[in-house]
Amino acid sequence: MNDEMKGLIDRLSETHTLSHAQYVRLIEGRTPQSAALLAQRARETRERIYGKAVYIRGLIEISNICKNDCLYCGIRRGNRNCQRYRLGKADILSACAEGYALGFRTFVLQGGEDAFFTDDVLCDIVRAIKSCYPDCAVTLSVGERSRASYAALREAGADRYLLRHETANALHYARLHPKEMSFDARMRCLHDLRELGYQVGCGFMVGSPYQTAQDLAMDLKFIEEFQPQMAGIGPFIPHAATVFAHEAAGSVDLTCFLLSVIRLMHPSVLLPATTALGTLDPDGREKGILAGANVVMPNLSPASVRKKYELYNNKLSDGDESAQCVQSLKMRIASIGYRVVTDRGDYQME
Ligand code: SAH
Repeated sequence: MNDEMKGLIDRLSETHTLSHAQYVRLIEGRTPQSAALLAQRARETRERIYGKAVYIRGLIEISNICKNDCLYCGIRRGNRNCQRYRLGKADILSACAEGYALGFRTFVLQGGEDAFFTDDVLCDIVRAIKSCYPDCAVTLSVGERSRASYAALREAGADRYLLRHETANALHYARLHPKEMSFDARMRCLHDLRELGYQVGCGFMVGSPYQTAQDLAMDLKFIEEFQPQMAGIGPFIPHAATVFAHEAAGSVDLTCFLLSVIRLMHPSVLLPATTALGTLDPDGREKGILAGANVVMPNLSPASVRKKYELYNNKLSDGDESAQCVQSLKMRIASIGYRVVTDRGDYQME
């Protein structure tokens, strides 16, 4: 590895920041050697704060009905071939019961922007989960809503909120989304969520169409400045019923590289090894953890709807991706020297 790369990695490990131009250099000069050094530093950093623990979240995909038409997403409104579903309160509570018995202490309710889930409906569900499982955290990931809505949900007991920023370059954002969506609206939501006291997660896709190293450096700078408690990043994967059907998928190696960079820039961030990583590579989750991730989010949706939440083609939901196989997941994680724990897995201040 050349001295420039080594110098950038040393600087990032020590100061947790690089300039935009330095992030671009680090990404463009990436080699297997620089990736290995970054990953080693990222593991040390993550172990200093979280030890060998890997937190698990039960992901319940509550609806694939969505009013948006994001160009990359398989459940976009314009996809006529998508079999739509939504879960009711009873389905969601029974998924939580099953997850609780399996050792999950965080439930993530994710879905499209489905008008059925008004504040009243969703608050009622959040309250019910919190009263049945007071020792569990509830994470919501249901897109853009008004500040008043976020406030009501927080009041009802929601602890965390995941809303990927998708790309920190407003021009790139506009190329991935329809006209009615805006980068400013996304940012408004993220700031509202933070001000309302949620643990907030932002994030982006790696290798999304038109993305450049400059864009990725902007994503890194955004995370560095916003200091979210969580960051969700995974490779872009095409879906046949979208405008981007014929675009190439993102790279597993680059995703892992960026996971390491994020760990070093923001040591205490909760960082999942995502389903998309596991979809592109059978060892994707392990690779993500070895790159500095410390969270996995197995699928806890009822089996009857699992295949229908198809954000991208071949999305994993069975086998070791399913919450029911957590025992097998535990063994795989143990085989690389880490330990799945039964814990809410809250953000730790450094
Ligand atoms: N409606 C919610 C949940 C969206 S789905 C919201 O707006 O937050 C969760 C994430 O899946 C998205 O934020 C996006 O980054 C990711 N995703 C969507 N389509 C994808 C694709 N084709 N490849 C990879 N990731 C994708």
